[in-house]
Order: sequence, then C-alpha cells, then structure tokens
Amino acid sequence: MPAAALIAIYLGLVLTPLALVWAQGLAPRTPWDELASGLGLLALAMILVEFLQLGRFRAVTSRVGSDVVMRTHQLLARVALIFALAHPFFYVSPLAPAPDWDTTRRMAVEYSWPAIWPGILAWLGLGAVVAMALARDVAGYRYEIWRFLHGLGAVLVAGAGVLHALRAGRYSADPTLGWVWVAGLVLALAALAQIYLVAPLLRARRPWRVASVTPAALNTWRLRLMPEGGHRLNYRAGQFAWLNIGHSPFSLNENPFSIASAPSEGPQLEFIIKELGDFTDRIGQIAPGTRAHVEGPHGHLTVQGHADAPGLALIAGGVGIAPLLGILRELAATNDPRPTLLIYGNREESQIVCADELQSLARDHGTEILHVLSEPPEGWQGPRGLIDADLLRRHVADAGRQDWLFVLCGPPPMLRGVEAALIDIGVPAPRILSEQFVYD
Ligand SMILES: Cc1cc2nc3c(=O)[nH]c(=O)nc-3n(C[C@H](O)[C@H](O)[C@H](O)COP(=O)(O)OP(=O)(O)OC[C@H]3O[C@@H](n4cnc5c(N)ncnc54)[C@H](O)[C@@H]3O)c2cc1C
Repeated sequence: MPAAALIAIYLGLVLTPLALVWAQGLAPRTPWDELASGLGLLALAMILVEFLQLGRFRAVTSRVGSDVVMRTHQLLARVALIFALAHPFFYVSPLAPAPDWDTTRRMAVEYSWPAIWPGILAWLGLGAVVAMALARDVAGYRYEIWRFLHGLGAVLVAGAGVLHALRAGRYSADPTLGWVWVAGLVLALAALAQIYLVAPLLRARRPWRVASVTPAALNTWRLRLMPEGGHRLNYRAGQFAWLNIGHSPFSLNENPFSIASAPSEGPQLEFIIKELGDFTDRIGQIAPGTRAHVEGPHGHLTVQGHADAPGLALIAGGVGIAPLLGILRELAATNDPRPTLLIYGNREESQIVCADELQSLARDHGTEILHVLSEPPEGWQGPRGLIDADLLRRHVADAGRQDWLFVLCGPPPMLRGVEAALIDIGVPAPRILSEQFVYD
C-alpha cells in the first residue's frame, strides 16, 4: 500500500462527517455559520483520527516509517488545534436556544450550558495537550509521565468533543452523523486499548530474558536477548522494537531501539544502545537473566523489496549504525552477492561500534567500509570531518553508484545534509531510505 493510499484513507476518514453534512441537505445558514461548523466538524474528525496515527500500527509504520507517522501526527494535531480554536469565533447568528419552530436550528446557535461545557473543556484541553507536547523538552518532565498525561488529555478532549458535537451541533443532531461520532470515539479508544492492554497481554505470553550486556564502544552497550520458550520475533533486518526491561508488560517504561541482529542468525535479538538519559544510562547495570518484553517489529528501514538495486550503500552517524549493522549481518548471512559500501561517521575512534566485526565483514563479505572521524587521532589515514557533499561525490557520483539503494541512519542534521547531497548528485529520492532516532 503506497503512501498515497494512506493519504487517501486519511482524507476519506476526516472528510466523512462533512460529506454526511452535505448529504443532509439542510437549508444553508450564513457562510460564517457554515464555516464555523465546518471547522468544528473537521477538527473533531482529525482529533479522532489522531488516535490511529500513533506509530504503533505495523500496517502503517512498515510502509512509511514510525518517524514519518509521528511527524504527521504532530503536524495534523497543530492543524486540528487551529481549526478548533477558530471554530467558535466564526458564528454570527444569535446565541440562543433554538425556538420550537426552528427544528433544524437554522436561526440560532445553541449555547445552553449542557451543550457548551463539553466544548469549552475540549477547546481548553486540546490547547493544553498540544502546548504540553510542544514544551516537553523545555519543561523536562519524565518521558513516561508526559506520555501518560498526553494520552489521558487526548481521551478527555476526544470524549468532550464528541459530547459537545452531539449536544450542540446542528448537523450532528442527525442520527447518522451522531453514530459516526460515537463510532469514531469507540475506534479511538479501541486503538489505545490495543496498544496499552491487548498488545501487552499478548506480550506477557512471549517473554524474553537478557542474555548479556557488554560494552560495544564508548558509552555504548551491546544488549542481547533470548526468547523464553520457543517463540521468535518475525522481523526484517533494519527494523526496530520497543524494549521493556524489568517492568510489567503493561508498564509505560519502554523505549524504541533498532534491532542490530540479523533474522537469519537465529532467535536471539541484539541491540546497540547509547547512554543518553535515565534508562539508557543504566543499561550497563542490567543483570543477565532480567525479564524483558519486546513489542514490534516496526519501521521501514529495510532493504527487502529492493532486489533490483545493483548495490547497497549504508550511511550511519554514531549509534545510527545499529539498524545498518543488522542489514550488513543479514546480507553476509544470506550471501547477498551485491556490492556494499558502509560510510560510518563518528567524532572519535573509540566511538566506532563493533569495529572488529566490521573489519571481518569487510574481509569476508567484501563490504567496503569508510570510517569518517571529525576528531581523528594522530596518524589517522581515513577521511576527516563530516560525511559531506564532497565525500559523497567522490564515493558515490565518481564511482557511478547513483542507481544503488541508500540506507541512512543518524542524527537529524546529518540525515538532512546527506539526503540533500545525494539528491544533488542524481540519486532518485525513492532510492533513499532514512530513519531518525526521534519518535515524539
Ligand atoms: C525508531 C528509533 C530507533 C532507535 N534506535 C536506537 C538504537 O538502536 N540505539 C540507541 O541508542 N538509541 C536508539 N533510539 C533512541 C532511543 O530510543 C532513546 O535514546 C532512548 O529512548 C532514550 O531513553 P532514556 O530514558 O535513556 O533518555 P531520556 O533522557 O528519558 O530521553 C531522551 C530522549 O529520548 C526520547 N525518548 C525517551 N524515552 C522514550 C520513549 N519511551 N519512547 C520514545 N522516545 C523516547 C525522547 O525524545 C527524549 O527526549 C531510537 C529511537 C527511535 C525512535
């Protein structure tokens, strides 16, 4: 299902209420009243569909990537907020309970307290939910607490919004549209229940154990998990999963990490984890044998489905090597005959993850490996600085590799620079896959 189909599904869902309004064929009001209602209806539909854009539904994330899903979730939440905030201000008809003879509420805007309070609650709540999300980094609350409050706030806004539409809405008084709102709310709550109740229940029956935690590079750890029982994760090299280590399967303490192992190597999973905050700083202290839960796989950073690419160029910055290591291991394990190039940027040599294994891959599988260091040690023979347009021109354009598949993972500024440089030297955009390690 291409991205265009997902966009069409999205538009179909959010425009359904407007289509039903049109089908009601009620006598029109002033254009301002119609605009006000239209904005409110659109905002409510968008809020309900936000629950389906949570980056946890594999049917979507495996096609466009969780990072893209989450960026879209954020962007559309802001658009919904603008529509919702503007909605009450466009009404020009008098605020009054509709007279008995005005059965289609054409001459007045319903403002009785039971109709209006849920609207005020949803209006203020949506502003608060979006503001809290925007201010998360500055405010510095714990990620898990923020996530819980975000979910709770969203449920409140959706519930109050639907109640307001049913009680105050001219068009939502129609039973068909009324049932659409109720069904939309049920679907939204079902999406949350799937993520926070059903999926954890299933995970509880397929637990994992920490097999080992060993240093992989400076401030970076290699964590191995073994399944408890005969199950295995059915993933493609380069995908990621949510890891919950040492908590109940229902806990919000779970973080996304790329799978650095290869599916062909067996049921064990390996992750390369860099210290960054409260959970990752304690990775090195996790005792072997600790129970873990794995939710996934997610993500579209995988070379499967690109058999027509004559070669594969993997470009990593820092811990962005994790999914690419999984891809390289899989290519080696399956004896993929295509030429491979790894361009791997780090600040200093001690940050190179699995340096020995990369050397073996170069020797045994013929992978061309280019380490780029921005602070190289004395006597360093390889390229210095950043992975920039100049370096890519030499190793991609001059080598005639523009028709290869390019798989990128690293810090957002690096990804932006590398993508722009690749497009500049003639690599078609569909030949570039990239993933950011930023979820929210
Ligand atoms: C698709 C994907 C793949 C990733 N793969 C790797 C990998 O292979 N190796 C690696 O070292 N890192 C990876 N990361 C980053 C990793 O998830 C974060 O570094 C980690 O969650 C930080 O958690 P913390 O509690 O230590 O840090 P904190 O200080 O709590 O958080 C630092 C930042 O990490 C993010 N973060 C924290 N907790 C979560 C959470 N539960 N869910 C989503 N984001 C969170 C937030 O942006 C937060 O601001 C990946 C991220 C994504 C989105």
